[in-house]
Parts: sequence; C-alpha cells; structure tokens
Amino acid sequence: MTKKTIRHRLLPALFSLQLVACSNVVHPPLADKPQAGPASALSGVTLVIHNVRLVDVEKAELIEHQLVLLAGEQILAIVPERQLSLYSELPQLDGRGHYLTPALWDMHVHFEGRTLEQDNALLLPLYLAYGITAVREAASNLAPVVLRWRDEIAAGRLLGPRIFTAGQKFEGINSLWDGDLEVGSQAEMLAGMDQLQAQKVDFIKITENTMQPELYLSTVREAQKRGLQVSAHVPYALSIDELASAGLSSIEHASYLLRLGFADEAAVAAKVRAGQLSPAAAAVHYQQGFNQQQALKGYARLAKAGVAVTPTLIGGQQLAMLHHTDHSHDVFLTYLTKDFISNYQWRIDRMAGETPAQQLTRQQKEQLIASQLPLLQQAGVTLLAGSDSAALNTYVYPAQALHDELLLWQQAGMQSADILRAATINGARFMGQGQYYGSVAAGKKADLLLLSANPLQDIAATRRLDSLIYKGKVYDRAALDQLLQRAAMQKQSLDLHRQQK
Ligand SMILES: [Zn+2]
Repeated sequence: MTKKTIRHRLLPALFSLQLVACSNVVHPPLADKPQAGPASALSGVTLVIHNVRLVDVEKAELIEHQLVLLAGEQILAIVPERQLSLYSELPQLDGRGHYLTPALWDMHVHFEGRTLEQDNALLLPLYLAYGITAVREAASNLAPVVLRWRDEIAAGRLLGPRIFTAGQKFEGINSLWDGDLEVGSQAEMLAGMDQLQAQKVDFIKITENTMQPELYLSTVREAQKRGLQVSAHVPYALSIDELASAGLSSIEHASYLLRLGFADEAAVAAKVRAGQLSPAAAAVHYQQGFNQQQALKGYARLAKAGVAVTPTLIGGQQLAMLHHTDHSHDVFLTYLTKDFISNYQWRIDRMAGETPAQQLTRQQKEQLIASQLPLLQQAGVTLLAGSDSAALNTYVYPAQALHDELLLWQQAGMQSADILRAATINGARFMGQGQYYGSVAAGKKADLLLLSANPLQDIAATRRLDSLIYKGKVYDRAALDQLLQRAAMQKQSLDLHRQQK
C-alpha cells in the first residue's frame, strides 16, 4: 500500500471531531509474511515508515537506512532498512526526503476565558496541525473544562493534543486573576492541595500577585512532599535560591532570572518581605545594574538544584514590537473569534501611552532576556519550550506561537538541537513521561512528525510539516489543512451566531 492510499483511507475519519481509539491501518495475517535470511518479521506491525531520516534528538544526529515499525499507537521497533521485504505487504509510509522527529510539546499554554469555552475548543485540533501533540496547561479559569478535555482526549473522544494541566493555580486572597485557588493560610493551602490532587491535576502552579511569601514557600514544599511538580513565578519577596531550595521544579518566564544578575537579590527579597521595600520599588531597583557574571553563578546554582526554566519569550517580544507591527493580516486571526481577540485589548490599552523611550527600554530588556538562553543552556539548566499562548496574552497565538518561540531561541544564539530537545524530550521528562514520549525510539508512543527540512540545521523546519502521526493515524498535509479549514469555519459560525443574538 502506498502512502497515498493510506491518506485516502484516513480522510473520512478526519471530518469528525470524534476519534475512534483503534488504528485505521490493517495488516494481513502474520503467517503470510515472507521470511528473509536470519531476520524474521515482527508481529503486530500496523505501519512501516521507510525512506526517512530519523532525527535522534538526544544525540543530535540523523540516522538513515532504518525502518520505523509501528504497532497502533506505539513504536514497536526500529530495524535496518534491508528488512523492508519482510514487511512489504503491510501498510507503508514512504517519507522520502523527509525527517522523522518526535512531535512537539508546548510546555506553557492557557485555555482560558469563562465565556470562551467553544472558542478554545475549536483550537484544540490546530495544535495537531502545527505538530504539537502535548501541551502543559499552566492553569486557567476554565479549569473544570480543561480537566474534562484532558480526559476526553486521552479516551479518544475529542481530537486535540495530550493535555497536562495544573487546573487552578494557587494565589493569595483577592488576586488580580480570575479563577485562582485563593489561599490565605496554611490550612487553606493544604485543603487546596487536597482538592487539586482529588482532581488529579498533573502539576501545581503558583503565581505571585497576592500570595504571602511564607505561604508561597510552604506551598512549594507541600507540592514537593506530595511528589507533584511545582511551577511558579517569582515574587519580589522571595529569592530564586529560596524557591529552589524549597523544591521548585520550574520557573515560568525567564524575565525573573535577570534578578540573579544582582548580588543583593536575597537582601532585596528580605526587605520586601519585611515591608521595608515595596514590590514596585524592587522592580525599579532591578532595572539598572544587571551583572552577567553574577547571573552565571546563579544559573549554575539553578542547574545544580535541578530547577527547569520555561523562558516564554514570544509574549514579551510581541508587546515590545507592538507599536511597530501590523497584525491585521496575521493568518492565525482566521481561527480566533472576535470574543477571543477582544481579550487582547487590555494590554494594548495599557501600552498605548508608552513613549518611544519606554518602548526602547522594553525592547532592550527583551533582548537581554533572550541573550540569557544560550548561557542558561551552557550552565546546564533544563529549558522547556513554552509559548504562554492564551486569550489574555496579546498576539501570542495558540499553537503557532510555539514555533515563533523556537525561532526566537535560535535568533538568541541557541543551537537548533538544544531547541528541539527543549520542545520534545525535555518536556516529556519534566512531566515524568520520558519513557513514553519525546524521542523516536522503540517502546515509545508514535507521536511523530515528518518534516520536509532538517530541524537539526534550522529550527524553522518545525513549520515544514508534511505529515503527523498521532494515536495510530497518519495525517498528511491535506488532512492537516482540513483541520485548519474546519477551525476557520467553526470560528466564522461562532462569530456569526453571536452577532445574530
Ligand atoms: Zn502563563
């Protein structure tokens, strides 16, 4: 069977959002298979991928002349290409000239907006169309819905990326954000942790708007004690080292790391905690005097403590360039409803009065943050690729923004192989899923991309998606384009429906 015929057989299934869990490819009885030489055919093979260059993300090398044998959703084995005749009667995927890589993980997204459930839902298949088969959802005010989607996707009833979610995030009382799990005491925090565990969230997220510093630290400790990964922002009242020693798993947003470039970071935190310095004054303090050598020492400590970092450059970049960019023709607007995009306005309004000098300062800060990425990498800090795409994050488009993010990392001087690891195996390992996902290897899930360019040479190759393999199905370019068209149609009908109301 040729690649074309597989594509043809799979297309009808793609018209429905409902996915059947079983594989769409069938294989003849095993007894019919020819035997050649000492090797004998493996049983249970449902798809044979050949003529590809296999991207080994861990060794950063290409492996040629291999067959990748799938059994349903699983990579059964990788065997020498000369064994192709053993499998000649089985469904084949000829990936001539293409590069087979593990699919991408976006390690920081939000599916948020109390009135945007449908608007977010229609975006789910788009992640697949952009080669992203797993997302880490870093909390939202749609938490119950996101938890439901996670389970429905896992059960094959909904088409979308595998979701790992924090559910609600921890905050203090009366926080700025909607939908937080607000806690003001140790007892409330423990009850909150019980609740999140009962909901089987995949990790814990904490942000710093109104949460008390001591409670912040004890929340990190408690999560760690319960064996949960815990990700957080960094409040001015705590030093990064204090959070690291409490057991923090990851820092979200590299902007916080600039504080490590100040020798008095711990002293500043102590002053804020004692009420001798306001958070606003601390922010001003950190605007001048960043010392690179000082920061490098901090990065070494982060690496030693095993704290990962999700840089999320694209959001800051979009804001820094807001006044210089015409977004009106952005392709991704085809998929975002008017209601979704209306959420962009608050940041646009907030920045409307910025002077050219303030804009320049903002751009310089973004550049400084970006320039830290290769240094973090060299220091041995685990980097996780995440977009922070969310309705509230202006022009940080779901799915597409991960590719924008990766390109920024490359422009910042990172090696494409390191970037690819941050967008595949690092994420899987961080979620404790490294044995199942993140590389093309026997025994792992076959969440795979066929790219028409080499991502080890230029990370922009992640945009050149020819086919996706996910949950035992092959989505060729035409099928992926249908997912895009379908989302565009759903967006239009949602807008129209609301307009008529
Ligand atoms: Zn976020």
